[in-house]
Amino acid sequence: MTDTLADSRTSSREFIEGVPVVVEDVPRRPAAERNEVLADPGFGRYFTDSMFIARYRAGEGWYDARLTGYAPLQVDPATAALHYAQSIFEGLKAYVQPDGSVATFRPEANAARFVRGAKRLAMPPVPEEAFIAAVDALVDAERDWVPTGPDQTLYLRPYQLASEPFLGVRPANEYLFLAIASPAGAYFSRGVHPVTVYLSEEYIRAAPGGTGDIKSAGNYAASLLAQEEAIAAGCDQVVWLDAVEKRYVEEMGTNNLFFVLGEGDDAELVTPELTGTLLAGITRDSLITVARELGYRVTERKFSVEEWRRGVTDGTVTETFGCGTAAVITPVGEVKARTGGFVIGDGGPGPLTMRLREHLLDVQHGRVPDTHGWLHRVG
Ligand SMILES: *Cc1c(COP(=O)(O)O)cnc(C)c1O
Repeated sequence: MTDTLADSRTSSREFIEGVPVVVEDVPRRPAAERNEVLADPGFGRYFTDSMFIARYRAGEGWYDARLTGYAPLQVDPATAALHYAQSIFEGLKAYVQPDGSVATFRPEANAARFVRGAKRLAMPPVPEEAFIAAVDALVDAERDWVPTGPDQTLYLRPYQLASEPFLGVRPANEYLFLAIASPAGAYFSRGVHPVTVYLSEEYIRAAPGGTGDIKSAGNYAASLLAQEEAIAAGCDQVVWLDAVEKRYVEEMGTNNLFFVLGEGDDAELVTPELTGTLLAGITRDSLITVARELGYRVTERKFSVEEWRRGVTDGTVTETFGCGTAAVITPVGEVKARTGGFVIGDGGPGPLTMRLREHLLDVQHGRVPDTHGWLHRVG
């Protein structure tokens, strides 16, 4: 990382007390180039002109916080994170509001989860206010990269990794905290399509006492083979079962799951309870609140494959959907498994799935009042 202190300035923003966010003059792509990307950004393919980076050293704490040009990192080949995956990440989005301002959605919940993740991996946590300050500084600097098309967003990826060059297996003494930003198109740009899922009866995602409840990099490496198998079986996503009995449904890929029991105003939502092996999604939490406000009963409990299969067959389970920051809500149309598959409802997106999806998108994009203070204005 080259320091260009000559053409940098110290903003009024602080990362943590006594550590200002230094704002460098970074090369910016011309508007025409940017607009070309924003016309069809896809997901996770393009990155904005700048990034946030701060460093940590044991005994010194966090230091050298700056907004700098988006560029490759130069790391030592012995960098601990590359060997032992002492590394966590977050995912949240910035949304253009109807008045032209920009807001992130519940960033304090991401900040709190990031602290929990750091502690679990024996890393020094980034204080919650510092996490939010970093994300705010990045969004503010990249205001022009927040796309304005229907349901388009700027996806934000804060992450922390052990940067100490040392091959001993112990918590590192040096860390990097970064945040990068990537414009994201509407997830379902050609209408909402249900996914077909594959029950993973061989591989597991998370075990009791493990790291399933945090966004640690290693979890995702361990999930890829099962996801590849799901695709080979003609499915879009893998569904994870509990590691001990392989009986209860836990998650779908990197989404939490909801099941709709019954229909109409009397419909009940069931979502697997947070046993410690599930990731506590912020979308999941928001949907529990929103659904209750709309008058639906929501229950957090264990939900077995057997109950799912039987319910779909006898008509008591009418809808199933996954939820997460990236796609908000994804309907599940069909389940495939070695033990026999089934089609949910008529295989199309269910009415409650679509109602909740529209409602949460409306909140995030500021189209309905934000009654919970979930939107965090930036700039
Ligand atoms: C990120 C993630 C989710 C969804 O969390 P959100 O906060 O709603 O984005 C669910 N499951 C897993 C495994 C995840 O990594």
